[in-house]
Formats: sequence, C-alpha cells, structure tokens
Amino acid sequence: METIDWKNLGFGYLKTDYNIRCTYKDGEWGELEVSNSEYLNLHMAATCLHYGQESFEGLKAFRGKDDKIRIFRMDENAMRMQDSSLGTMMAILPIEKFEEAAIKAVQLNKRFVPPYESGAALYIRPFLFGTGAQVGVKPSNEYMFILFVTPVGPYFKGGFQTTPFVIMREFDRSAPLGMGKYKVGGNYAASLVAGAKAHELGYSNVFYLDSQEKKYIDECGAANFFGIKNNTYITPKSSSILPSITNKSLMVLAEEMGMNVERRQIPVEELATFEEAGACGTAAVISPIERIDDYDLKISYIFSFDGKPGPISEKLYKKLQAIQYGDEPDTHGWVTVVE
Ligand SMILES: *Cc1c(COP(=O)(O)O)cnc(C)c1O
Repeated sequence: METIDWKNLGFGYLKTDYNIRCTYKDGEWGELEVSNSEYLNLHMAATCLHYGQESFEGLKAFRGKDDKIRIFRMDENAMRMQDSSLGTMMAILPIEKFEEAAIKAVQLNKRFVPPYESGAALYIRPFLFGTGAQVGVKPSNEYMFILFVTPVGPYFKGGFQTTPFVIMREFDRSAPLGMGKYKVGGNYAASLVAGAKAHELGYSNVFYLDSQEKKYIDECGAANFFGIKNNTYITPKSSSILPSITNKSLMVLAEEMGMNVERRQIPVEELATFEEAGACGTAAVISPIERIDDYDLKISYIFSFDGKPGPISEKLYKKLQAIQYGDEPDTHGWVTVVE
C-alpha cells in the first residue's frame, strides 16, 4: 500500500479505490453500483458534452480525534443537486440515493480519509449529467450520477491567512435571471478567463458585482461573500449567487455567538465600512480577504494590513471546523457519522 504525505496534499485529484454510480433510464433510477474504474464509456452525442446538461456538488468527510469519520451536511448538498436538476431539466436524484452513495464511497475508501492531526480531509465530488444522444437542443432522457472521493490537504498551508481580490467590470459570472444560483459546470467555464486575469495580476480571485447594475456585491470567485461590522454578519442577497452551505452554517453560528445577521443587497461602496471581510465555501470554510482592489476605479478597500484575519472571522472559522472534526458537539444535526 502506498503512503500518502497527508500534510503536503494539495487540492488535486488522487486516485482512490472505488466510486459509486447510478444510471437513469426509462424514467427511473437504477441501483447504486460500485466501480473501480476512473473512466466512463460515453456516447459522443451525449447532452452533457454539447448542451451543458451537467451539475456537481462538493462536500467533505473528516476524521476526528476519536477516529470517527463525519460527513458535513450532505442532505443540503443532495437538495441543492435536485435544484440544479430543475434548472437544467435533468432527472432528479432522490436525497436518500445521494446520501447512500456518499456513505458507501467513504466506507469503501476509508484508507484515504486523512488522519485528524493532518488538517486534511476527504473531498466528496458527486456529479450528474445527461448521457442520452441528442443533436437538437433537448433534454436527455438518460442520465448518470457518479460520486468519487479524493483526499485534499489543508487549505491554509502556512496557517489561516488573508488574500487579495479584484473587481473587474469587464467580466460577469452570471446574469440576474440566469444560472448563477445552480451549481453547474458552465458557470465555471464562464469564470476561467476572468480568474486567469486576476491570477496574472496577483490576486487570489475575482470579486464580482451584480451584472445588471454593477452596484451591489455578488460573489467572491466561486465562494460567497460576507462582511463584518458593528457585531453584524452581512452577506449579499442576490438571484445570481450560489446558495453556499458554508455560508448558511456560518449565519447560524454567528447568531449563536450573539451577532446580528443580515442578508441583503450590499452596495459596493459599503466595503469601506467593513471591519472584516471573507469568502466562504467548502474548500476553505473561510478565506479571509486582505483587500479588494477596484481595478477600474483604482480604489482599494483594505481589511488587513499584516496578512492576519480579523478576530470574528477566525472565531467563526474555528467554530465550524470544530463541529466538522467532532471536537465540539453537533447541536444542529449537521454531521453524519460513517460507521
Ligand atoms: C460551491 C460554490 C460555493 C460554495 O458553496 P458551499 O456549499 O459552501 O461549498 C459558492 N459559490 C459558488 C459559485 C459555488 O459553486
């Protein structure tokens, strides 16, 4: 058996032993199947390849001090995938099938769940796509669901740290009545050019404004935004952002810590009034923001002068991670222990 250097794992793909598959045909989902192949045999006219009938999810399993493995809020991911199916006219995968697949994949790949001390985790990637052959723009009548897992390293190698973001009005990620609220591959393809330009300029990612008026804060790369001021956690309300499960969880924790929580439109100028700002999502939990440079107006909104995150971001980050790793009790029913 190969040995894995858990501490130096990145966010890449590492082959594991098994993945779980399920096909939809003749109007119904089949049984879950276990596969040890990394490849699939796909019709060249499959709708996923031509018309973007595809959605995906991302969640994690964590090994605790007690050696138990916990999956975080998988029911939420299952429901969000159903929503993505509604948005792309794909077959709806039952919540129970999604959960059963996740548990099975973790059980069968237990040796790839990183040890507690490493700060690494097992990333779970479910995805669903149209496999039926079509040439006209029509939804497929056949689908495939696959769920694979791969170990990923701690997001912050040098400790919890801030990074800079950039506002560039020449790019939109999604339209107000478009697909931004669904977790579909096309949104990522649409963000690659902007992301590459941001990286070239030395930023960790693009900070998106609403595409209609460019007045309000939308998303932070492929993560949700939150700002902190006057003991209040503020996150954008928008029809084009992806409803992050991490953000939803942080809002609950912030309230429990005695903070106010606001979900509303945030004018971009309001950035100047925040004491702390961060991006949130499964990959990092919280990625604290050092500063946001407005590339077009040549203004900077600065949140950290020493690279260190603010105290509230740090507290929220630690609290959520403690629940995920089982260091603190799961009082919300967020965690599923895999036996
Ligand atoms: C997945 C994703 C997020 C984060 O969602 P989580 O459920 O917290 O991982 C935020 N924005 C976009 C565009 C995403 O695709």
